[in-house]
Amino acid sequence: MKYEAVIGLEVHAQMLTETKIFCGCSTKFGSEPNTQTCPICIGMPGVLPVLNKKALEFAIRTGLATNCKISNYSRFARKNYFYPDLPKGYQISQYELPICEHGFLEIVVDGEVKKIGITRIHMEEDAGKNIHEGGGNYSFVDLNRTGVPLMEIVSEPDIRSPKEAAEYMKKLRTILRYLGVCDGNMEQGSLRCDANVSIRPVGQKELGTRAEVKNINSFKFVEKALEYEIKRQIKVIEEGGKIIQETRLWDSDRGITESMRSKEEAHDYRYFPEPDLVPMTVEQKWIDEIKSSLPELPDVKRERFVAEFGLPEYDADLLTSEKSIANWFEGAVKAGGQAKAVSNWMMGELMKLLNEENKTFEECALKPAQLAEMLSLMDKGTISGKIAKTIFEEMYKTGKDADVIVKEKGLVQVSDEGAIEKAVDEIIAKNPKEVERYKSGDEKLLGFFVGQVMKAMKGKANPQILNEILKKKLS
Ligand code: ADP
Ligand code: MG
Ligand code: ZN
Repeated sequence: MKYEAVIGLEVHAQMLTETKIFCGCSTKFGSEPNTQTCPICIGMPGVLPVLNKKALEFAIRTGLATNCKISNYSRFARKNYFYPDLPKGYQISQYELPICEHGFLEIVVDGEVKKIGITRIHMEEDAGKNIHEGGGNYSFVDLNRTGVPLMEIVSEPDIRSPKEAAEYMKKLRTILRYLGVCDGNMEQGSLRCDANVSIRPVGQKELGTRAEVKNINSFKFVEKALEYEIKRQIKVIEEGGKIIQETRLWDSDRGITESMRSKEEAHDYRYFPEPDLVPMTVEQKWIDEIKSSLPELPDVKRERFVAEFGLPEYDADLLTSEKSIANWFEGAVKAGGQAKAVSNWMMGELMKLLNEENKTFEECALKPAQLAEMLSLMDKGTISGKIAKTIFEEMYKTGKDADVIVKEKGLVQVSDEGAIEKAVDEIIAKNPKEVERYKSGDEKLLGFFVGQVMKAMKGKANPQILNEILKKKLS
């Protein structure tokens, strides 16, 4: 029997608002425990929540960017459960009438575009954090995160493989970062993913029973956890067993998923409309305003990079993976850099140097115009391509402009035929055996001579002129 996997993702994205969703406490990460709390977010009786308008705006932005229908009428609901990190005994979330519904986004897998439906996006508050340390027979509770605004983005069960799931996550993360609504940091937990997965015999229409896998905190683990879980389910079925609907935990150290609890049903939560918050009526005018303020999104940008700059798909894809990378690229092209040359230097040298220091393009001290200027020095023949690498690294490290480095280090390319001829003569005189071999047909040796002369001239010889002179002298 052949099986196919069916996957739907529930993604929680922490919104980049300054303050919490229902009070004025700061959302800053990493402060001393319980320093960012107030009677509202620690759930004192009698206090009233007030919705943070920015959180609503961010949810609408995300909905618009993922082709959702924005609800003009929407409301919050109480989701009741007990846990020590949830002081109120309920989470304010949305249930019926979420803010966004019926969207989709497109992913590319094996060269093919695939649409993944987005069922809904709703707003909710985050819970606190239990801390189990100190070794005693007790735990701590930190409520700084309580009330931090989240979006839950729920996909349709349209995903068919771990790879598609990872692509979907990546695409979603890119969009959230473009919109500036979430920093997308999976390791720190500001973007979290629960993966629902089931299997069914190929050709069967009905969905199988699903397991929900929690605790997935990187793209790599999205794939790994799903691969494991799919194999596990196939094994259970083939051994005559049944999949039970349950919540499982991904253990990245052991590379397995483990049963955590049987899956709760919606009715377990006793959802009801939140009585402390009035329903939201969102005017179309505001939705339109938000829509017109959306940035150019990654898919559109990628296509424009191909059309406008003649870049290969591969380059365009990489350069539009982050807004800051795309902006850097466009900055260098505006400053006069030829698009493909800019792209090559960015994808090669620059990304290598940034990676070495674990830096992003936002933190890149080198300015786009500096690359453009270096490229123009290459075009003019002032510097050779070989020397350019040295200059580029120096620019990156010191922030100095290319022409300054060229002068300081005396790196101007030598195009003076007399000087090159002199160096060629010396090398030929020093290597009579190689000259003989070359003359008797071993033409590969030309590279050897070029290398020797370049070495003698510290890489500064104009390669074209050098080649011409060498060929003439050796013939
Ligand atoms: P809950 O919040 O209880 O987990 P939802 O109805 O919101 O439930 O569904 C959560 C996710 O599970 C959605 O992303 C949906 O696409 C996915 N899903 C639902 N049924 C299946 C199934 N049989 N196999 C795989 N995924 C599923
Ligand atoms: Mg769920
Ligand atoms: Zn508060």
